[in-house]
Amino acid sequence: MIKAIKGTKDILPDSIRNWKYFEDVITSVFKIYNYEEIRTPIFEETSLFARGIGEATDIVGKEMYTFEDRSKTSVTLKPEMTASVVRAFIEHYLGKRQPFNKLYYISPMFRQERPQAGRLREFHQFGAEALGSGSPLLDVEMINIAYDILKGMGLKDLTIKINSLGTPDSRKNYTKVLKDFLKDKENLLSTESKDRIKKNILRIFDSKHKNDIKVMKNAPKLLDYLDSESLEDFEQVKSILKSLKIPFEVDASLVRGLDYYTKLTFEIISGKVGSQSALCGGGRYDLLVEQLGGEPTPGTGFAAGMERILMACENEKSFEIQQSSIKLYIVCLDKNLNANAFSFAQTLRSNNISAEIDYLNRSVKAQMRDANKLNAEYVLFFGGEEYKANNAQLKNMASGEQEIISLDNVLNKIK
Ligand code: AMP
Repeated sequence: MIKAIKGTKDILPDSIRNWKYFEDVITSVFKIYNYEEIRTPIFEETSLFARGIGEATDIVGKEMYTFEDRSKTSVTLKPEMTASVVRAFIEHYLGKRQPFNKLYYISPMFRQERPQAGRLREFHQFGAEALGSGSPLLDVEMINIAYDILKGMGLKDLTIKINSLGTPDSRKNYTKVLKDFLKDKENLLSTESKDRIKKNILRIFDSKHKNDIKVMKNAPKLLDYLDSESLEDFEQVKSILKSLKIPFEVDASLVRGLDYYTKLTFEIISGKVGSQSALCGGGRYDLLVEQLGGEPTPGTGFAAGMERILMACENEKSFEIQQSSIKLYIVCLDKNLNANAFSFAQTLRSNNISAEIDYLNRSVKAQMRDANKLNAEYVLFFGGEEYKANNAQLKNMASGEQEIISLDNVLNKIK
């Protein structure tokens, strides 16, 4: 038997209802904040991600699904959305049409990671990108949108962590300081972190290796080496968050895995999903548009993992599992009337009433069981003596009340 590829998941009808509910929460929050949806292709030229995300990142270095197509072009299934949105922004001159663009997306992403709970090879993200303004107000807006959606899903056990990565210049200065600090401690680090000293030194803060954590505890913090503009913006973000009564922690070791971040970065963590606890991450990327060939345009955004959020919801029992329901189930009492029952159902359906009938020639008892399973609001007993007078018994399933009704009046009664 052929099975789904490791790290991918079918989303079956039972859970689709929760996904739809989730998508409704997402889209309604984005509407309130005036964001417009953008959809980009599932695959892009590999160079977009290599240039946009950074060669030394884990994503580009070892996680991308990259292959040559038949015309020998190297293409990659998108591992994240920011680079694609920025590519589309540049390609379609969105910045020329209007000076400021607020965009959101919901899309599958692909990364060849080691599958485990909360870590898949195909997963779904929703997120936002705001392009054209360097205002720290927008950074706060990003945190708020993500927080509103998570709270909209009923989640409570949430921690917001923020940090600033400064400008590339202040980061460069700091990198030297960090290199100096690690000079005589290299042999205490894990092999992976040793490797990162040259390639992507900030990521050593992300290491889960206990020796690395011990060493990095005493490392100088980037926050102490920030340029004045980044520091001012960071102070503003903190003070607005405080005035909005949004709880947050400053985490000086929050570096995030992608190269393009400048200034504010943030993550929202759940206490209920185990080791893969980041539900969402984001930050400012003021140089990315330019780096990808566009006019200098500041940007800020975030991405959130939908499977992980649904896992947190399940663990917190944060919202009621969505049940399907139909308006009317037609229990056919006489097999000879199956076609008439079907026609009757069609009349209701064409009037926007969800109606179901039995297609398996089941007994009346089994049809009732089916009606219960489908959470039918009403059951119509189609056939028998009543049918001869163009009538039928209609049962209200919640109250149990049953009445004889003309078939001509069913639509008006239940709609
Ligand atoms: P990132 O784009 O790496 O900043 O990730 C943003 C969010 O996407 C994370 O906080 C996770 O919730 C989710 N995410 C990232 N990678 C995976 C994965 N392999 N499987 C499931 N969710 C993921």
